[in-house]
Amino acid sequence: MEITVTKAERLKRKPDPSKLGFGNLFTDHMFNMDYHPDQGWYSPRIEPYSPITMDPATMVLHYGQAVFEGLKAYRTPAGRVQLFRPRDNVRRMNRSCRALCIPELDEAFVLEALKRLVLMEKDWVPDAPGTSLYIRPTIIATDPFLGVRASHTYRFFIILSPVGAYYPEGFNPVKIWVTRDHVRAVRGGLGEAKTPANYAASLFAGEDAHRQGYTQVLWLDGVEQKYVEEVGSMNIFFVLDDELVTPQLNGSILPGITRASVLELARSWDMPASEQQISIDDVLKAHDDGRLQEVFGSGTAAVISPVGELHCGERSVVIGGGEVGPVAKKLFDTIMDIQYGRAEDPMGWIEPVI
Ligand SMILES: *Cc1c(COP(=O)(O)O)cnc(C)c1O
Repeated sequence: MEITVTKAERLKRKPDPSKLGFGNLFTDHMFNMDYHPDQGWYSPRIEPYSPITMDPATMVLHYGQAVFEGLKAYRTPAGRVQLFRPRDNVRRMNRSCRALCIPELDEAFVLEALKRLVLMEKDWVPDAPGTSLYIRPTIIATDPFLGVRASHTYRFFIILSPVGAYYPEGFNPVKIWVTRDHVRAVRGGLGEAKTPANYAASLFAGEDAHRQGYTQVLWLDGVEQKYVEEVGSMNIFFVLDDELVTPQLNGSILPGITRASVLELARSWDMPASEQQISIDDVLKAHDDGRLQEVFGSGTAAVISPVGELHCGERSVVIGGGEVGPVAKKLFDTIMDIQYGRAEDPMGWIEPVI
């Protein structure tokens, strides 16, 4: 399939790379493609970034049938632009599509489209420390129809946003609120899909945590509210007795690409790493026994987010003296160095764009 390109007549002013935030600025162009049952996915095109006009009855607005992805393009010291494990994002998007009854896309074609768009917008990839170009592929249901069923038509689009460093004031541990009142997802539901519904489900508890002075929520399983699942919109890791432990993928946990990278790196360092069911009571007991060394989240936005305090019920426990632990630090530095091309890529994770 040929990707048609329509260039914007006027280009926007590029932002000051030292003053970037997250997700509030967008580049000059976007990728669009549509689906119709008679045509399959058709009309792939790069066009000027622009609003989507839609019928108020458009299904995605009413029933949330949508999936998305999140990845980044990084500027290397030599000025090249590269992606981190983009094939894994494309594969995961198709898995999310299956969960949401959305027709799958050709993975090689999506990767080509994504690279074409990033290449066209390469001057938007910032070069200040820790900055990157965030990439948001999204698919939405577009039938104008109020009945409940899967849509027949869809729009796939990719937008790009230059983003600032996640830790402008340094790599600081965050305070986490363990919620037993709310659940994010349940097995058999949508937890392992990257879909807006999971974010809608997380808002109330997130606001609650903020009101109590905490940054994010630690989610327990939706059935017994006993086993640890995720932290905010990140996967979660513990260092227990020098072993890295993360909840096993059980259907309600999002299979993070950073999570997979952390496990693969730890194993390459001969550090014991396991995926297992782990209860919040075991975490607290390990803390009381002096065996809990570190807690951190993993995700594309922050890479690694150390947890300095856990609030659970009546208790507040401080982890690692509230300081960043050595495992979190080493993982953060190693992954960032590979992403930004400052270190070799022994795992084959990098996809060059230019
Ligand atoms: C995207 C996401 C993650 C992290 O996935 P990465 O591929 O590492 O960015 C974790 N949990 C949830 C709920 C997510 O949506």
